Amino acid sequence: MPLPARAEVVVVGAGLAGLSAAVRLVAAGCDVHLVEAGQYTGGRLATERIDGFVVDRGFQVLNTGYPRAADLDLPALDLGWFWPGAVVRVGGRAHRVVDPRRRPSAALDTLRAPIGSPLHKAAIAAYSVRAAYAPVDRLLRAPETTAEQRLRAAGVGDAALERFFRPFLAGVLLEDRLETSSRYLDLLWRSFARGPIGLPARGMQSVGEQLAARVGADRVHLGVRVTAVRGGAVTTDSGGVRADAVVVATDPDTAAALVPGVAASAPRQVTTHLHVLPASPSGDPLIVLGSPGGRLVNSVVLTDAQPAYSPDRRALVASSSLAPTREDEVRAEVAALHGVGAGDLEHLTSVTVPGAQPAAVPPLRLRQPVDLGGGLYVAGDHRDTPSIQGAMASGARAARAVLRAVRPGLRGAA
Ligand SMILES: Cc1cc2nc3c(=O)[nH]c(=O)nc-3n(C[C@H](O)[C@H](O)[C@H](O)COP(=O)(O)OP(=O)(O)OC[C@H]3O[C@@H](n4cnc5c(N)ncnc54)[C@H](O)[C@@H]3O)c2cc1C
Repeated sequence: MPLPARAEVVVVGAGLAGLSAAVRLVAAGCDVHLVEAGQYTGGRLATERIDGFVVDRGFQVLNTGYPRAADLDLPALDLGWFWPGAVVRVGGRAHRVVDPRRRPSAALDTLRAPIGSPLHKAAIAAYSVRAAYAPVDRLLRAPETTAEQRLRAAGVGDAALERFFRPFLAGVLLEDRLETSSRYLDLLWRSFARGPIGLPARGMQSVGEQLAARVGADRVHLGVRVTAVRGGAVTTDSGGVRADAVVVATDPDTAAALVPGVAASAPRQVTTHLHVLPASPSGDPLIVLGSPGGRLVNSVVLTDAQPAYSPDRRALVASSSLAPTREDEVRAEVAALHGVGAGDLEHLTSVTVPGAQPAAVPPLRLRQPVDLGGGLYVAGDHRDTPSIQGAMASGARAARAVLRAVRPGLRGAA
């Protein structure tokens, strides 16, 4: 479908932010066109098939505790679930640390795990309960520090900090100094404490594809790069489109280049290595945390959570490092984390994602303006939090702002 010369709204970028905006605008009856430089929808949620395996671009999960997960048809994604916790390896032994509220059968393992005294474990439980149940505005009113300072002040202790929180959070925040805002940590921990995390049967890209289907194929223009924007028009490598409203929902760097006044935030990167094992070593759908001093922050048998990631009964393992690593540098560590021989691991592929997500260091700037005036709007994870939640929430806010301008009579439609 060629680009129209005119549309009511043009959304630039079909990541989760742009898709979330477009879905709402279409639902409100707007004439929306979505312009995407790539050949697929979903942006950073990308999946390919390699030798029959479902391979996401980097280890990513869908956290169903995110408020905006409610916008998705979760049953249609056919999610496979992780248990709420992780495996900590100390002195060659694996210990399960699992939220006992949601998995009582593993409570004894957690009590025995070498992550501190019973007092420290009680402090972890208290922190989790507060994050899960305190109202969000109370969490956001707490004085802002770094993630590390918040955890220390909560009394979790050194052992839990180094063996559990640091590697667990490094895999999520893509930084291991725990310099991220304590407010973002609180919000993130709230989501982990409130909902399970899972993998869609057809890979993470299917999250974006589900939203794109609601926009309609005739309104999504793939392989079209936007080179300039202003309130009333976009210029692309396939021609120009005039519009009443333009929503720039690209990655932060491109948004900063296209839109004056949008600052690019320091990007976090991650390298993920994919290996195949003849069978799963443990069968428990749990992330195995990297050990202090190692290169890996985590390693996970994806197929324990989502068997559909394998074309047969072989296990697919994803292992991530923050610094770029070569496969031969981490192979022995992957094997040790799972208690298998290095020779059992068959290397499938490796990927380094340079701009995986923007940093969220203090001061956390939540809900940054999306309406820049003059018919120009901006959305993306850099406007809220560096996450699926942040991207979707910013898209929803941008859609509401557009509707206020182009459909002033419409109340509550967005
Ligand atoms: C490896 C990895 C792991 C992650 N893990 C998690 C996780 O477990 N949980 C979580 O919540 N978040 C995770 N994230 C972060 C999350 O994926 C992102 O925060 C979110 O997807 C960002 O969505 P977005 O729509 O803001 O941006 P993007 O997904 O980057 O979408 C922007 C879109 O704009 C397009 N575009 C760019 N320039 C142009 C142009 N000039 N013209 C037209 N189109 C353009 C791009 O092609 C892209 O499709 C992870 C990210 C990565 C990379």
